[in-house]
Amino acid sequence: MPDSHIVDVWPNLLYIGKEKRTLPFDLLVWTAGVEGACDGEIMYDVHLAKNSCLAVDERLRVVPHKNIFTVGDVAASCDPKTGVCLPMTVEKALSEGSYVSRAIHLLARDPNARIAPYRPKASRYILPLGGKYALLEGKHVVFAGVTIWFLKYFILFRYLVSITSLRKAFGRTARQFMIYIQND
Ligand SMILES: Cc1cc2nc3c(=O)[nH]c(=O)nc-3n(C[C@H](O)[C@H](O)[C@H](O)COP(=O)(O)OP(=O)(O)OC[C@H]3O[C@@H](n4cnc5c(N)ncnc54)[C@H](O)[C@@H]3O)c2cc1C
Repeated sequence: MPDSHIVDVWPNLLYIGKEKRTLPFDLLVWTAGVEGACDGEIMYDVHLAKNSCLAVDERLRVVPHKNIFTVGDVAASCDPKTGVCLPMTVEKALSEGSYVSRAIHLLARDPNARIAPYRPKASRYILPLGGKYALLEGKHVVFAGVTIWFLKYFILFRYLVSITSLRKAFGRTARQFMIYIQND
């Protein structure tokens, strides 16, 4: 149901759109991004963290609940080693999404299943730094230059191919490429 904003959530019932259409649910996966009602208008009885994101425990469950998971921008998840909150990235959203889907699958089969805590992987970043120049930061290495700048677009293209058609992926990558060049 694209373009159908959830406007209210009750136990086992969603309300959608201005007309407040109802939709019953057993399992709600809330991945509404950082602007997605973190302000408590939809979510009641939850602990908020920095930037009004939802505080989560080490298994990505919304504090203080044991049966609500959240992932992506809306989840204020932290690196357990450093205690630093993870940056809002696609990589974080995808990795947390895989973890939570596995956890739900296990719990659906056995409600008492032991779920291992979420362990985020060390992220690698490509940071475009204006011009046709970018910096790649890996675990122990840093590379910079125009090649890394092109690599960023290759990564974007590869990601888009995984979620849409080749033609759309190419069009979107080319559009971003042009916007970046024109605004440089
Ligand atoms: C300009 C910009 C550039 C970025 N560049 C990068 C980058 O280069 N690399 C990178 O890794 N990350 C980048 N990010 C961050 C990345 O986009 C986010 O971290 C990622 O999209 C988070 O995924 P998500 O699924 O949590 O949320 P989103 O992708 O924001 O998805 C949330 C979805 O929920 C929908 N939604 C919200 N409220 C409701 C509601 N009430 N009912 C129903 N649906 C709702 C929204 O419409 C949206 O479709 C960028 C972000 C921005 C804004």
